[in-house]
Amino acid sequence: MARYIGPVCRLCRRERTKLFLKGERCYSMKCPVSEAVTDRHSRAYPPGEHGRDRMRQGSEYLAQLREKQKARRIYGVLERQFRNLYAEASRQPGITGENLLRFLELRLDNVAFRAVWGASRAQARQLVRHGHVLVNGKRVTIPSYRVRVGDVVALTQKAKELYVVRRNLDTVDRPLPPWLEASADRFQVTVASLPKREHIDEPVREQLIVELYSK
Ligand code: SF4
Repeated sequence: MARYIGPVCRLCRRERTKLFLKGERCYSMKCPVSEAVTDRHSRAYPPGEHGRDRMRQGSEYLAQLREKQKARRIYGVLERQFRNLYAEASRQPGITGENLLRFLELRLDNVAFRAVWGASRAQARQLVRHGHVLVNGKRVTIPSYRVRVGDVVALTQKAKELYVVRRNLDTVDRPLPPWLEASADRFQVTVASLPKREHIDEPVREQLIVELYSK
């Protein structure tokens, strides 16, 4: 599946919030939308020639669209795949918005990110694409692969020795969500349950996405 390969900080600037797409840089003074950056160097306004123009009056549609784009960008999913996920989420029993977020959380690249093997979802995705991640002992290279309850997701022997993985495990301060259980060395996680809404800490108002797609 394709992925966005353009500049990512502009995505945060468009959403006017930190989406944490880059890992370490996102926590540093180099982040253009960081509140810690002085006004003079801040680029916390939308990208492009007209980014600093007067903002359009916020319409309902605009809020819904921005929320959908934000969710897509956080999880690194392009429109077609996102829409298909939504269609599947709406067919499932339960609340559509919560189903959608749960599907996004259960993506293999997101599990690798939650396990702190990647500093960002993009880095976690690359670990998957490059064959460093095993699901129940089998190599799976599809970032959108959906894990199930009971699945054991682990790093290959080679990946355990990767500097970047060790460094992330040592330095990234991100707690494991309650629906994952890690082994003592943190090179393996088990999907203990399905993620509940309160376990998903991304700033997404899924109801707006549902409203947008149900128009
Ligand atoms: Fe760039 Fe990260 Fe800041 Fe977003 S949060 S603008 S990706 S540095």
